Amino acid sequence: MYNAKAYSAGSATSPLASTTIARRDPGEHDVQIDILFCGICHSDLHQIRGEWSSLPTVYPCVPGHEIVGRVTRVGSAVTRLEPGDLAAVGCLVDSDGTCPECRAGLEQFCPEATFTYNSPDKYLGNVTYGGYSESVVVNERFALRVPANLDLAGTAPLLCAGITTYSPMRRQGVTKGKKVGVVGLGGLGHMGVKFAHAFGAHVVVFTTSPHKKDDAFQLGADEAVVSRNADEMEKHAGSFDFILDTVSADHDIDAYVKLLGRDGNLTLVGAPDKPLSVSAFSLLLRRRSLSGSLIGGLAETQEMLDFCGAHQITSDVEVIPIQQVNEAYERLLRSDVKYRFSIDMASLESE
Ligand SMILES: [Zn+2]
Ligand SMILES: [Zn+2]
Repeated sequence: MYNAKAYSAGSATSPLASTTIARRDPGEHDVQIDILFCGICHSDLHQIRGEWSSLPTVYPCVPGHEIVGRVTRVGSAVTRLEPGDLAAVGCLVDSDGTCPECRAGLEQFCPEATFTYNSPDKYLGNVTYGGYSESVVVNERFALRVPANLDLAGTAPLLCAGITTYSPMRRQGVTKGKKVGVVGLGGLGHMGVKFAHAFGAHVVVFTTSPHKKDDAFQLGADEAVVSRNADEMEKHAGSFDFILDTVSADHDIDAYVKLLGRDGNLTLVGAPDKPLSVSAFSLLLRRRSLSGSLIGGLAETQEMLDFCGAHQITSDVEVIPIQQVNEAYERLLRSDVKYRFSIDMASLESE
């Protein structure tokens, strides 16, 4: 074991503060990564404040699952990475590798999956600690390659916000000639717009704020609709192949289902607290479908990173030192960031 600097929350009501955590020394299949940047995901905030009854938080909690860094040590059996390589870690750090989900490349659904933080740690006991830390040790299967041409601060959020939006679009066949809607223009939504545009689709952004229209166009949208304007919504009735709904606040999804054409699909990636209401007729009439999606497996996450390298796609980020993380959370709650915070982990050195 060795000690690593980190930021943790001691309870649901305490701010994140500097601490020291134990990391395991790399075993034969492990890589140790010095963390350069870690994105701030909305999940981090929910988790440290204990807001998910189905995923109780174990304190102290070190969040962070959008990790980019450089490999410093590797175990004797590691073949895919060597010291000096860039590497990325997303929401998962382990799985059994043998169950049907793992064999299908869908490690995120493995019943034995270990998530990057607040998940039972089978090596050290207690729970896993995330990326708000100077280093992390993972099995090499969970360390992804980072294209050398990408800005690293903007690459970190690809590991959660990126794959969360990329995966359902691939699954639903978003490509040139398709009409795609993206609901919400935050950390997830802005990545959805970038990917849909890069896939060649006609992209329509739905926003509640008219002032976000210009931002939508800059990100690659072809049209922007103010969702509170019934006339604007009506113009698009029955016309979409796919809609990605990124909103985590309570909202009327039936209004969006009605915008789908025959066999159109709406996929939810946001997670509102309360059950959503959908009219059965909205689904029946044009054989529409409603889905959810959760990050992506390892192979697809690597595919997404490679796609981003080939198309120069990164998240739009505001880089902050770790000392500003609590303030950043308050701003996140007000949607006051374009579009993701990325923590420069060099700032941990002074702690
Ligand atoms: Zn996340
Ligand atoms: Zn498995």
